[in-house]
Amino acid sequence: MNFMKTNCRTLVQGTPFTSLLCWVLLLTSGSLVYGQAVSNGKFKQEDKFRQLDEVLPTPNGFRNASGAPGEKYWQQQADYEIDVELDDKLQKIIGSEKITYTNRSPDTLSYLWLQLDTNILSFDSDAHLTGTSSPLGKVGYKSMKQLLAKESFDGSMKIEAVRDAKGEPLPYAVIKTMMRIDLPRPLASGESTQFSVSWSYLINDSQSRPARTGYEYFKKDKNFLYEIAHWFPRMVAYTDNTGWQHKQFLGRGEFTLEFGNYLVRITVPDDHIVAATGLLQNPEKVLTAEQQKRLKQAEMAKKPMFIITPEEAKKNESSKPTGKKTWEFKAENVRDFAFASSRKFIWDAQGHQLKGKKDPVMAMSFYPNEGEPLWSKYSTHAIIHTLNVFSKYTFPYPYPVAISVNGPVGGMEYPMICFNGPRPEKDGTYSKRTKYGLISVIIHEVGHNYFPMIVNSDERQWTWMDEGITTFLQFLTEQEWEPDYPSRRGEPRNMVNYMKSGYQVPIMTNSESILQFGNNAYGKPATALNVLRETVLGRELFDYAFKEYTRRWMFKRPTPADFFRTMEDASGVDLDWFWRGWFYTTDHTDIAVENVRQYLLETGDPYVDKVRRKKKRDEEPESLSKIRNKKLPKRTDQFPELKDFYNEYDDLDVTDADRKKFEAHLKQLDADEKKLLETQHYFYLVDLKNYGGLVMPVILKLTFDDDTTQMLRIPAEIWRLNNQSVSKLILTEKPLKSLTLDPHRETADTQLSNNEFPRTIGKSFFQLEKSKKSKNEMQKQQKEKGKSKASEGEEKQQDKK
Ligand SMILES: [Zn+2]
Repeated sequence: MNFMKTNCRTLVQGTPFTSLLCWVLLLTSGSLVYGQAVSNGKFKQEDKFRQLDEVLPTPNGFRNASGAPGEKYWQQQADYEIDVELDDKLQKIIGSEKITYTNRSPDTLSYLWLQLDTNILSFDSDAHLTGTSSPLGKVGYKSMKQLLAKESFDGSMKIEAVRDAKGEPLPYAVIKTMMRIDLPRPLASGESTQFSVSWSYLINDSQSRPARTGYEYFKKDKNFLYEIAHWFPRMVAYTDNTGWQHKQFLGRGEFTLEFGNYLVRITVPDDHIVAATGLLQNPEKVLTAEQQKRLKQAEMAKKPMFIITPEEAKKNESSKPTGKKTWEFKAENVRDFAFASSRKFIWDAQGHQLKGKKDPVMAMSFYPNEGEPLWSKYSTHAIIHTLNVFSKYTFPYPYPVAISVNGPVGGMEYPMICFNGPRPEKDGTYSKRTKYGLISVIIHEVGHNYFPMIVNSDERQWTWMDEGITTFLQFLTEQEWEPDYPSRRGEPRNMVNYMKSGYQVPIMTNSESILQFGNNAYGKPATALNVLRETVLGRELFDYAFKEYTRRWMFKRPTPADFFRTMEDASGVDLDWFWRGWFYTTDHTDIAVENVRQYLLETGDPYVDKVRRKKKRDEEPESLSKIRNKKLPKRTDQFPELKDFYNEYDDLDVTDADRKKFEAHLKQLDADEKKLLETQHYFYLVDLKNYGGLVMPVILKLTFDDDTTQMLRIPAEIWRLNNQSVSKLILTEKPLKSLTLDPHRETADTQLSNNEFPRTIGKSFFQLEKSKKSKNEMQKQQKEKGKSKASEGEEKQQDKK
């Protein structure tokens, strides 16, 4: 099974013929892919607890069976030295880079692949050509502008030169968003090579061509604000499980990257302020003495403090550059580099001492006056809060700075820096949605430093591994911000509508093929992890296992299997059913309490048992015929001699024989058995039905006759022999009044009405509405005529004056 999976990868990269062959194999073995290699024509249920080993890749020396990096684990290293100029007149990037690429794989590489992600912003990109549309009805002016820009704007990279270490040109080929460089001599395992690339491209206007990067133009003060990302040719990741991960950039599947060290010199107009990945190396050259002084003070500040105040930033808006300045940044062990630049920036900062770290982390925010008063109040606080909570559940934040920038990009993450969009209205007021939207997006994007910037998953393939996990921790972080923080995602009940919707695919789907992207890759995995933590494993076990996952894979490259395996390995709990249900299927939770039956133990004593049976019989409702027949004269009334013994005899009367039999029975019993006979328990048989397909723990709240309650938490394995209907025997000491399934709504159960036994009447309200009068065209026209006559009259009156 794994053999076929890995081989198909290689085959697809080969000739069309072998690709076709591969598809045939995949199709004929379709059921194998989801691990249903067995078929059973008798008992028509799939085994939802079948182990995942058949589905997951075979463990090897690179990734072992416990989900940890194996003894032979390796990853490539890509170090960059980049000079880049931001042309503020043409909104253009002009750059040159020297890449040192170290081949730590066991393989010999005859060519190298690089990613040219800005090529997605050309009019002939696959992303544009393959994009589909819904019928045009009402199209907004902004959307119209964007439609036209997609046809005309060319933001692709112009490669000026590719040279080896000696400056000799290297042959290369650009294939859409990828570039292959052919090496004059194959790069053997363990060797390094150096080469350089120079390039330029036009930066996209985020209004007409929105992306994860771009500029914003402010008409009123004629200034630009740049948020610059995937702006240089970056090494494609070469890995043990995919080889070169050069699946084209279509827009959704983000970036799969190598770690390395960066030295970046950014040249901008001399009145610009630059925020970037890494540590600023030459503050004395680019900052004023006052700014340097304040920055030093901020390191020890107890609250965020301004390095550039709102008033100073306002003044800078009308400044004119007198030349250029070069900002130099160094970043170690990062997988990417991004920056922002503008003369409009307000800048605040606070040094934060994290537990388990020697040096304080500088938390910093950069934003224009348009972000005020929201940004100075919340941004840097949100950064520090995120570092605290994320570090608690993972590892201490390893980088020296964490930056949040306000600009045209709504929310996007890069190492040490992220771009966040929300702003207040022009008058400084803001909605609740904007306030919490801002705090949440900053938590989310700063949180991405951990996933995927450090726990470096393959974003081009699996969106949930960074988005889902980050959204889960975002929920935990939000809940530690203030009581009842209005989190959008995390609570199981918020996922119910999605879980029962039809237009969806499993979480384990390639990024580009996901339906309902936000729900699938953010909401559902975040909910799944929350359910795993609160309901399946409990906080202690989950947190231990999750931390182990992050420790094993920090600065390394985990796959889904490594996550699944580590969570089981460290928690000691078989979770294959959970991964199978939540990640490999679209099943949802809908468990019903179908019926509850009570059983009481008979004492064997005829004076108790027979009397009770008799009472029960006598309490049976009389049939309608019996009631109506009562009045009819009976033959035995007319002829009493027809009566005999049986007219008086009652089956349920206690006889001497009954009594003797009971006494004889008691004599046979030993003390223990006699005690059992005296059991006073109530036995309830609870019939459960699984309508949603997802096997989940059964959480029952028992309410007794005296209104006391008891919680019963049954693991999901209750469904292991029959995943559609089971009956559970529950023993209680008190009689039961009612049962509620999932009373805290922790399992994302999509139908609450069948969770109660006995069923309760559903209650809601409805509204009355006055019927709207329809207006006919004749009436409208007459009204209009009347209006214009009246205004003519007014005009005439005025003329007279
Ligand atoms: Zn995200």
